[in-house]
Amino acid sequence: MLEDVVKDKYKRPILSLRITITNRCNENCIYCHHDGMVSSKDEMTPDELYLITKIAKKIGVRKIRLSGGDPLVRKDIVEIVEKIASLDFKDISLTTNGVLLEKYAEDLKKAGLDRVNVSLDTLKRDTYKFVTNMDYLNEAKAGILKAVEVGLYPVKINMVIMKDINVDEIKDMFMFCRQHGIILQLIELIESENCEDDKFSDEYHYPLDPIEKTLADMADDVYERKFMQGRKKYYINDGEIEIVRPVDNSKFCANCSRLRITPDGKIKPCLLRNDNLVELINHVRNGKSEEELEEIFIKGINKREPFNKD
Ligand code: SAM
Repeated sequence: MLEDVVKDKYKRPILSLRITITNRCNENCIYCHHDGMVSSKDEMTPDELYLITKIAKKIGVRKIRLSGGDPLVRKDIVEIVEKIASLDFKDISLTTNGVLLEKYAEDLKKAGLDRVNVSLDTLKRDTYKFVTNMDYLNEAKAGILKAVEVGLYPVKINMVIMKDINVDEIKDMFMFCRQHGIILQLIELIESENCEDDKFSDEYHYPLDPIEKTLADMADDVYERKFMQGRKKYYINDGEIEIVRPVDNSKFCANCSRLRITPDGKIKPCLLRNDNLVELINHVRNGKSEEELEEIFIKGINKREPFNKD
């Protein structure tokens, strides 16, 4: 079923596109890997995003994810989703800190958004304030519950695991998720080149191996996702936990099917590299034809290089 999909030099099909539609954010997380700096007037417009996703659809992309910064700080977020949804993708999702989600969830659902991932590293107010430098825990939780209510399904919570900060909260977070039919994703902390505190990841990195071992022992069932870097899902007492490990995971590159667009409109072939970006938005703004833009996408895809080529 993948004949119509463009594949890279390593036969990896390009099935999903993650677009960072802004780098503005209403939080300031201590670990955040900010992706470039773009002023709001240079952000890609809804029409430009429509055209980019239209080309992506033509080359076989099936899933779109909108991210940031925080995508909900864009006042035109509903229009963006509506335009992209008119292209009839298999799946349109959005990653947010949830702070503005209560306000937008219903309109986003109506506009054609399928689901959301909400970042929530803790259920404790003080820890939340420490991690995000903001006091929006209640807003984030209300946003999550609203997303569940309007059926942005499945809602997933992204929890970045940090030593001495939230490792002891995994069980409580899982209970919260299970109670509301939410999938919990445990994310390994990765080094952030733009992090204000260089030592942050050294100090707070916590390996997910021991956690995964515990989950494996407890799980009723385990499933490995083929095109999502071989991520494992553990099913425990009707709840679901997924492990996201970009570091030390040879399968991360091997099964990668995702292309990215940076907030300043460049194709980013690989998550962990910034030396192979391909200019896109200037070509859109200069009125290049759809065929020419398709060629630019292919150029980006041809630059994909797994760390481990075996
Ligand atoms: N503002 C949105 C949010 O909070 O979800 C979207 C952008 S945020 C960069 C996307 C995801 O990346 C979040 O789940 C966040 O926790 C994760 N993330 C950011 N920096 C990270 C790091 N250094 N290590 C692991 N995950 C990180």
